[in-house]
Amino acid sequence: MKTNTAKIQLFGTWGCAEAYAIRDFLHRGDVPFDYLELSTDEEARALAHVENLNDPRLPVVIFPDGTRFEHPTIRQITEKLGWFRTPSLSEYDLSIYGAGPAGLSAAVYGASEGLKTVLVERFALGGRAGTSPKIENYLGFPKGISGAELAERAREQAARFGAEILLLREGVRGEFQTGKGVVYLADGTKLVSKASICATGIDYRRLGVPDEERLQGAGVFYGAGASEGSLCRDEHVMIVGGGNSAAQAAIYLAKFASRVTMVIRDDSLRRSVSQYLIDRIHSTPEVEVLTRTEVVALHGDRVLEAVTLRNRDTGEEHTINTSRLFLCLGGRPHTEWAEEVGIVRDEEGYLVTGPDLPRDGAHRRPKNWPLDRDPYYLETNMPGVFAAGDVRHNSVKRCASAVGEGAMAVTFVHRYVANG
Ligand SMILES: Cc1cc2nc3c(=O)[nH]c(=O)nc-3n(C[C@H](O)[C@H](O)[C@H](O)COP(=O)(O)OP(=O)(O)OC[C@H]3O[C@@H](n4cnc5c(N)ncnc54)[C@H](O)[C@@H]3O)c2cc1C
Repeated sequence: MKTNTAKIQLFGTWGCAEAYAIRDFLHRGDVPFDYLELSTDEEARALAHVENLNDPRLPVVIFPDGTRFEHPTIRQITEKLGWFRTPSLSEYDLSIYGAGPAGLSAAVYGASEGLKTVLVERFALGGRAGTSPKIENYLGFPKGISGAELAERAREQAARFGAEILLLREGVRGEFQTGKGVVYLADGTKLVSKASICATGIDYRRLGVPDEERLQGAGVFYGAGASEGSLCRDEHVMIVGGGNSAAQAAIYLAKFASRVTMVIRDDSLRRSVSQYLIDRIHSTPEVEVLTRTEVVALHGDRVLEAVTLRNRDTGEEHTINTSRLFLCLGGRPHTEWAEEVGIVRDEEGYLVTGPDLPRDGAHRRPKNWPLDRDPYYLETNMPGVFAAGDVRHNSVKRCASAVGEGAMAVTFVHRYVANG
């Protein structure tokens, strides 16, 4: 194993969930790093300067300036990178929650158009798009671009225009009245702004089988595995999900793994995967697609060792040895906070906006709507609270549309700030 001291060095062991979380965070932040997986006690001593593979000081992170962290939190790493900030203003024009494509776009347009803008993200930049190894259908990138790089470009652009970005902060509760919104973050920070945009997207759905949580990061991963590719060399890996993200994961991981099995419940990919990805899968011999199949059990004490599959027609079960399972399942938004303040959600929790809002009987406007105008297209039933991207009812689940909605929401914010 060679170490490159110009980059961050991360030393960990296979199956260590904390090391995975750090890998995932650095990868999504587009921070150059080398991950060195220690496999013997000698390596642990020689490279990470700990006693053995079970040393609780692992994982170890060493920054290029020599700063060493043992078993660090993501917060410590964020602080060392200079990315952990406190809000500089007591009141903003616009606060945005979620730094996926929609939130980043809103930050770029908001700040560039002179709004005092703050963007709050609970984990890493880029949202779900940030986990994509290669986005090929985003306008202007004919050869594709990784989600992490796209997010980093957007971050730079937003920061250049003066948007403040607060990472590792989560919006948990809001109090809204016309002209002013107060949002409380999980750490107690209070953000006040004239208008807010909720761009919190959706979360990955769980598989719902026993041991899933225990093995998370220890062989079970959510998303397309952009940070894991090179670690899958010559392995047989499995992907669950029949959408574009699962197809992307299969094509990406096939560059490293000797075999990639996609497990889908449907009888083909046709209904849920874009044709260009289907064509790509058909021309990638390492990828096989198991249709009408579901995962019913995970095996392994400390790390994932095997997966049991069941055929949905015959009920027949068989177990396949694998140490990496990537779950690319659709998700649901977490918008419980909205219900508490009377913001209308659909039955799956998506925020309802503009023309989709239910009307109050014979009146043209939503119940209790206080203004003498209709809600704007991306406005919820709470004046000044907007929704953009995947979290919005009836949204198109694509990067370009999330970016478009982020930009469009800012136009409505301007109108709201100017005229109410
Ligand atoms: C693996 C994968 C590959 C994909 N590939 C493509 C592709 O090639 N082309 C394409 O067009 N689309 C693709 N998509 C879909 C695309 O990524 C999504 O449509 C897009 O990311 C939606 O953007 P968003 O900003 O609405 O939400 P998200 O990207 O989901 O971002 C939401 C952000 O909000 C944050 N957040 C959530 N709650 C809070 C809170 N309370 N406080 C603060 N922050 C919060 C989350 O951490 C997240 O960062 C892919 C999706 C996946 C998962």
